[in-house]
Amino acid sequence: MSRFQRVAVLGSTGSIGESTLDVIARHPERLAVFALSAHSRIERLAEQAAASGAPVVVVPDTAARERFRAAWPAGRPLPEIRVGAQALADTAADAACDTVMAAIVGAAGLPAALAAARAGKRVLLANKEALVAAGALFMRAVREHGAELLPIDSEHNAIFQCLPRGERAGAPSEPARGVRRLLLTASGGPFRRHDPLDLHDVTPEQACAHPNWSMGRKISVDSATMLNKGLEVIEAHWLFAMPPERIDVLIHPQSVVHSMVEYEDGSVLAQLGQPDMRTPISYGLGFPERLDSGVGPLDLARWGKLEFETPDMQRFPCLQLAFDALRAGQAACVALNAANEVAVEAFLSGRLRYTWIPRVITAALEWQQRQSSVTLDSLADVLALDAATRAYAGNLGLA
Ligand code: NAD
Ligand code: MG
Repeated sequence: MSRFQRVAVLGSTGSIGESTLDVIARHPERLAVFALSAHSRIERLAEQAAASGAPVVVVPDTAARERFRAAWPAGRPLPEIRVGAQALADTAADAACDTVMAAIVGAAGLPAALAAARAGKRVLLANKEALVAAGALFMRAVREHGAELLPIDSEHNAIFQCLPRGERAGAPSEPARGVRRLLLTASGGPFRRHDPLDLHDVTPEQACAHPNWSMGRKISVDSATMLNKGLEVIEAHWLFAMPPERIDVLIHPQSVVHSMVEYEDGSVLAQLGQPDMRTPISYGLGFPERLDSGVGPLDLARWGKLEFETPDMQRFPCLQLAFDALRAGQAACVALNAANEVAVEAFLSGRLRYTWIPRVITAALEWQQRQSSVTLDSLADVLALDAATRAYAGNLGLA
């Protein structure tokens, strides 16, 4: 698709959103911003809209609309300001938009990402929590509405690049032919070598100090606990129709090999590059062509050696919990994700110890198993279980 694309960037003020705008600005001949959205940093949203010429912005409420107006440079025509969650989903499905970058953090991004899939858009999916919470529903929407789904998470983007040529950017119903295993790499985060007993007093600043990637705070904590890799195993399961026993995780502290695909004949294909999200973002925006992303060359001689090791599930209980949830089914995945969001938020605001994050998730998974079985056939079903899990986790007295 080398035609001109008008892009809605949902979550434009975040880490992925900023990188997306950087890439779009490099290619005015083929990319333009259609819409931007933000939840809290409204003044930054106004700067982004002024710089990119976005005709539409979406803010959460009327107070944010007033803040946007107050921040807008005098004398310039205001963009159309849409308000609320429904407006966000409608914007993702807007006929004037070709491509949607789903870069909101958490299950809050699910309704708009799903709306984009149902409208048959090119969907660039960074928001992994949407797939964790509603994998079956989301992939069905992609299939039924002919959406073009391109993974932006660096590991999944790497796998997509290493799959056999001819794999469509959509929703496969079975694993790609000839593929034996997917190998997801993980940096191991800032506490890879720490004594687990020392983690009791970890601060949000320490947990967010990722050795290789600069990211939003929630995903940084998820990387430290390795729940992020667990979410990515679930994400890979849905994106590539791959059973859990054929998805392996490998610690690779340098974050140079972004992931790998192993074939039946023993071949292993890897995608390498600098740890800069503009590479997978440009891949998604340019697909099937390659765009200049602003990322420089990879100097392998400078690295000298690349290391790999098996993750220690004792040290990273959250990774095991995610595998357990994937095997247990969709309801467990909703509970895993919602409980983690509550726990991470509580940790980041100083209400929960770092070491309690896996305990909150474990309690929520046990709670979910005690419930009578639920159907998760609709967005409303998923959101109801997500809300019930948050209420349970929030009432634990831990969070
Ligand atoms: P971030 O915290 O930097 O940004 C989040 C964005 O979402 C912001 O624009 C914020 O305004 C918006 N937002 C937050 N809560 C919202 C709500 N309730 N409703 C509407 N909008 C809301 O996060 P990030 O690091 O850019 O990550 C975004 C997503 O991409 C996450 O799902 C993350 O897992 C995924 N991802 C990020 C990276 C990375 O390098 N940062 C890599 C891979 C995947
Ligand atoms: Mg990732």
